[in-house]
Amino acid sequence: VPDAESKKLLDATPQSYPDYEVMPEIPGHAKYLLIGGGTASFAAFRAIRASDAKAQVLVVTEEEELPYMRPPLSKELWYSDEPKLVEKMKFKQWNGKERSVYYNPPSFYVEPKELAYQENGGVAVVKGRKVMKLDPQKQVAVLDNGWEIFYDKVLIATGGRPRNIPVFERASQEVRDRVTLFRGIKDFKRLDEVSKNASSIVVVGGGFLGSELTCALGKRSRDSSLKVIQMFPEAGNMGKVLPEYLSQWTTAKVRGEGATVKPETFVKRARYSDGKVILKLNTGEEISTDHVVVAVGLEPNTELAKESGLEVDDTYGGFRVNAELEARSDIWVAGDASSFYDIKLGRRRVEHHDHAVVSGRLAGENMTGAKKPYWHQSMFWSDLGPDVGYEAIGIVDSSLPTVAVFAKATEKDTPRAVVEETGESLRSVTETEAEGVAAESGETTATPEVESATDEAPAPDVEAAAKLVAEVEAENRVAPTPKEDYGKGVIFYLRDDVIVGVVLWNLFNRMPIARKIIKEGKQHQDLAEVAKLFDLHAD
Ligand code: FAD
Ligand code: NAD
Ligand code: NAD
Repeated sequence: VPDAESKKLLDATPQSYPDYEVMPEIPGHAKYLLIGGGTASFAAFRAIRASDAKAQVLVVTEEEELPYMRPPLSKELWYSDEPKLVEKMKFKQWNGKERSVYYNPPSFYVEPKELAYQENGGVAVVKGRKVMKLDPQKQVAVLDNGWEIFYDKVLIATGGRPRNIPVFERASQEVRDRVTLFRGIKDFKRLDEVSKNASSIVVVGGGFLGSELTCALGKRSRDSSLKVIQMFPEAGNMGKVLPEYLSQWTTAKVRGEGATVKPETFVKRARYSDGKVILKLNTGEEISTDHVVVAVGLEPNTELAKESGLEVDDTYGGFRVNAELEARSDIWVAGDASSFYDIKLGRRRVEHHDHAVVSGRLAGENMTGAKKPYWHQSMFWSDLGPDVGYEAIGIVDSSLPTVAVFAKATEKDTPRAVVEETGESLRSVTETEAEGVAAESGETTATPEVESATDEAPAPDVEAAAKLVAEVEAENRVAPTPKEDYGKGVIFYLRDDVIVGVVLWNLFNRMPIARKIIKEGKQHQDLAEVAKLFDLHAD
């Protein structure tokens, strides 16, 4: 039975809706409209439903999928031996436990046409539809088929799409047919299939995606005749994030996974010949391959901006929003597509899972009237297979000066071990659970006291190592000696002598300490002292 509000709408349009059995497939009005069906939208609808228990939330997504998480697409899904599992988009966490990439089962969602009649509210997802334009004055969204949806509050959580490079954009159709730009489930399924039949795959790009996929494909290549080659313009893997010595170390690690890695290398020409793509490289070399994965960064989805009169950030890309993540009255933006004002670190745009969660949640809360500013620093993690991984927070840019401390790692200092211990593969969740804030974003969480931790006696070798690295690096950014063991450690990124970013290298369960240091934003005289807070020898 329609509720009062839906009845009013029905009465207003008697000719179109003689009875609600023949209602159009989607509602004409939504109190909460979320554009995009990714992680930021998921976090937003959870937050909206938490503070407005009867909320009716409508999600419109271009993908033909219910909301799902992307991190396993370049990690765990590749390490499963069970094809059936992968078909169902389930994966085994590093601890062996099964999990679905979808946040909720289909039964969680309401049919869009039923949404208005749910007394207790619910979430409905319109799949395979793109929102082309918003009219902020009339509060209406226009879809690619001309449908209009009036909204009270709208969230833009459109994420981004993979960039391409001109050499492939301009290439022949035969070449383009053999190139994957990797972002979603569809792309995973395709590359999974390709990797079973191809004799060689080239990965272009040395950032998060290129490096994770190379490790994943490299692992697969060890059990087959597949050859995996990665190339990128930087001197080492993750060169834009990690200091050079660590980037070099990582490159050695990726090679150890079974891939050929070519740093300082890029594609000059791509042509098709006899079933293969022939790549001419800057080094003069020519290589022949069956398939190319292009992982050269992300382009935020902001096409909506122009038509809707919204501002796009000239420097960072993305929709420009204030500290409450609002672009204009009743329009919020979260996740990869949001250029936001971080009251601690300044304007930024962040392309990571936990940021989508944190900002989506904040936007959702603000859509229900919370008026909260962005304050909870998000973190991110990257695993190069189950044995090497890192977590980070704040601004981690290898062009900043860094200071680092390392110690010898044990078998317990791996992503696999931390997932075994906590049972959770999304390490942003591991942290929130440790903090005891699960779905809540309260600042009331018990983060360890920075001061009290300094009282503990440090292990002597940490102190010595800290001095060494701090002295060598702080001044001239030279790497520690190549013999250094980068088993596990902490790396500080400095701007005007203030720590603005921290990488925890194979060092887990320490994020609250790093977060607290970033939040304090103090100038530290002795970074070796700060490093002691991380208690490198505790486990
Ligand atoms: P998205 O997840 O991109 O969702 C946006 C959605 O909006 C998409 O479904 C898109 O189709 C839809 N859309 C776009 N425009 C429109 C429109 N006009 N109308 C309707 N729908 C629209 N981060 C980490 O921190 N750790 C990791 O380990 C990690 N691993 C990753 C692995 C892979 C393979 C990838 C691709 C990313 C990974 N990330 C990781 C990054 C993380 O997944 C993203 O930061 C996150 O998905 C961003 O969420 P979002 O909701 O902003 O955007
Ligand atoms: P309408 O309801 O007369 O619909 C025109 C035709 O468009 C329909 O016959 C239908 O086949 C098709 N259609 C199906 N779904 C649609 C959709 N979501 N948007 C647009 N067209 C759709 O058109 P209208 O009177 O201009 O109103 C469009 C929708 O917006 C209606 O659902 C109406 O209730 C709603 N509306 C809401 C508000 C508000 O909440 N503030 C104000 C005006 C209209
Ligand atoms: P990225 O920004 O991490 O890396 C971009 C890389 O592209 C650069 O490091 C460089 O090697 C390469 N590149 C740039 N221009 C090039 C050119 N002209 N020729 C060759 N190489 C070039 O982006 P990505 O790795 O493509 O990842 C895509 C998105 O997915 C990003 O938003 C990323 O944050 C996200 N992602 C995150 C994780 C994680 O957080 N663990 C994992 C996978 C993907």
